[in-house]
Amino acid sequence: MNPDPSHPMPHIVVLGSLNMDLVLRVPHAPAAGETLHGQSIHRIPGGKGGNQAVSCARQGAQVSLVGCIGADADGEALRSALQEDGIDTDALYTDLAAPTGTAVILVEDSGQNRIVVIAGANAKLQFDEAALQARLAGAQVFVTQFETPLAQVQRGMELAHGAGCKVVLNPSPMQPFDAALWPLIDTLVVNEVEAGALAGRSVATPIEAAEAGAALRARGVARVIVTLGAAGAVAVDADGARHHPAPQVKVVDTTAAGDTFLGTVAVALASNQTLDEAAALGIRAAALCVTRPGAQPSIPTRAEVLQSPP
Ligand code: ADP
Repeated sequence: MNPDPSHPMPHIVVLGSLNMDLVLRVPHAPAAGETLHGQSIHRIPGGKGGNQAVSCARQGAQVSLVGCIGADADGEALRSALQEDGIDTDALYTDLAAPTGTAVILVEDSGQNRIVVIAGANAKLQFDEAALQARLAGAQVFVTQFETPLAQVQRGMELAHGAGCKVVLNPSPMQPFDAALWPLIDTLVVNEVEAGALAGRSVATPIEAAEAGAALRARGVARVIVTLGAAGAVAVDADGARHHPAPQVKVVDTTAAGDTFLGTVAVALASNQTLDEAAALGIRAAALCVTRPGAQPSIPTRAEVLQSPP
């Protein structure tokens, strides 16, 4: 619900993946041949598309999610979790043959995670163009990633760009993509590994992130944000590069930190905030996310972000 009717809710369309996460807490990741006892197992809604949609919704946007689940209990659980956040799931397709996507996530005592994803129904996504276009007509921002078929992601970006939406791309998991996509992107959000892979150089420091961001802008994307984990993020646009540090927090689980960041950035951009305002808000939201376990349950609301230290 819109808490302030004088400020219209931004509308965001997310095209992406949905997974049921099997989250195992372990003292450390097992080495080859090692068997160890984990501390707990939980089934938690996740997937980059779902997480980013939930982040957008909790930051106050009206969100439509275009994705694909299997005809099974996990799929229904994911759908109802999204609906609890007020997300429009009418463009969520059901594949009758493939299972709902699943991610096995090992969370070490350090808070670091290791993830194996079985795409399942996510790999079968084939959206109806008229249904997507109807949603894009009222939207300011289109958000997508690379956990659903690249041809669908590309078509979604073309339609969104054509409809006048700002396209926010998180090319994760990284895979080579058509050069024709670059000029369609308003804001590219990449972590240091993705930035390094795209720019063909190592990215570990804010200076290297700024250099990689500038190299990526030269390919045709207007704005780039490189996230650097505990070191925050670097925002790069025509005015240059600015480093936004992250607050020091006690890390419990970094799952969904990047998705929380991205959703918060998308809502800020949909509300015409600057790239720096968006990055700063994203960092505050992600800092809260990493102090909590799990994917979607760890994503903060706008009120929580605004109450956190600036
Ligand atoms: P991804 O999860 O996509 O790999 P990052 O690890 O770069 O992305 O994290 C995304 C954002 O989450 C960072 O830019 C930062 O704002 C926040 N973040 C991640 N790890 C931490 C941490 N240890 N402390 C504070 N903030 C963090």
